[in-house]
Amino acid sequence: MRGTSGLQEAFGLGTSYVPRQYAQVWKTPPPEWREQLDTAISGLTATELPPIFFIANDIGAEGRAFDALCRIFRRHQVPLAMAVVPAWLSDARRERLFLSAPIDEELWGWHQHGWRHVSRQESGGKAEFGEARALDRQHEDILIGRRKMELIFGPHFVPIFSPPWSRFSAVTLKALRTQGFKGISAAAPFPPGIKLPWGFFNLPIKIDLHTRNSANPAKDLNQLLTKVGQLQNSDDYAGIMIRHQLMTLFAFQFLDHLLYNLKMLGTRFFSFREILQPFDEKKACSRLR
Ligand SMILES: [Zn+2]
Repeated sequence: MRGTSGLQEAFGLGTSYVPRQYAQVWKTPPPEWREQLDTAISGLTATELPPIFFIANDIGAEGRAFDALCRIFRRHQVPLAMAVVPAWLSDARRERLFLSAPIDEELWGWHQHGWRHVSRQESGGKAEFGEARALDRQHEDILIGRRKMELIFGPHFVPIFSPPWSRFSAVTLKALRTQGFKGISAAAPFPPGIKLPWGFFNLPIKIDLHTRNSANPAKDLNQLLTKVGQLQNSDDYAGIMIRHQLMTLFAFQFLDHLLYNLKMLGTRFFSFREILQPFDEKKACSRLR
């Protein structure tokens, strides 16, 4: 079994690496965490698992943590959807991004995470594309963001939208449909009364690994492992969200072991591009008919 120092070496993180912010659960590894994770995974059956995807949130200004994240996914050859905030990308940041995650490497699913990641709500939870904003305003921001995404990522841009803070409204879906987006990925359920448009994918996040606010680390870890054990209760796609800015060395170790275990189990991992493929093919077929 690899120790912490081996992992730091393998993923390029120094021995003193600590993120600016992190949840209590990721502070200190409890002695038996590997066994606990193994137990949670042992209750799963690959054939009963929904298609799983991993998604890294808030991509823009990147450094060592992002590089370490890319190395882990490359090592396990598991695709990672990259939720990019278009306004955060400068030329220098774009270059640094592609040093860690080369644009022509197939593992990365470059897609749009809002426009500026600024909340526009005056009350309630934060949202850039919430109920407070009218269709034309939402449409405009999504379009500016999309143009920048297409400029930077070209054919590697995947037309899926993940709204900041996971909040969106009926008009967000309308704007996305008008602009030819093919799916949305969020932790929140669909707004009440809204049906999933035909040919449009709902890619729900079932587990948020790093945005956790419990002050009781043991309880929080148990809750997290329970959610891992419940992955096969999802009937559609199941997303696992990563926030690398909040990852401690323990969080990297945990992710590494999670990926290892899920791979050993025979889990089907999907890239965002693969998820859209059947739809594109169907469309191509119907055009030929
Ligand atoms: Zn975000």
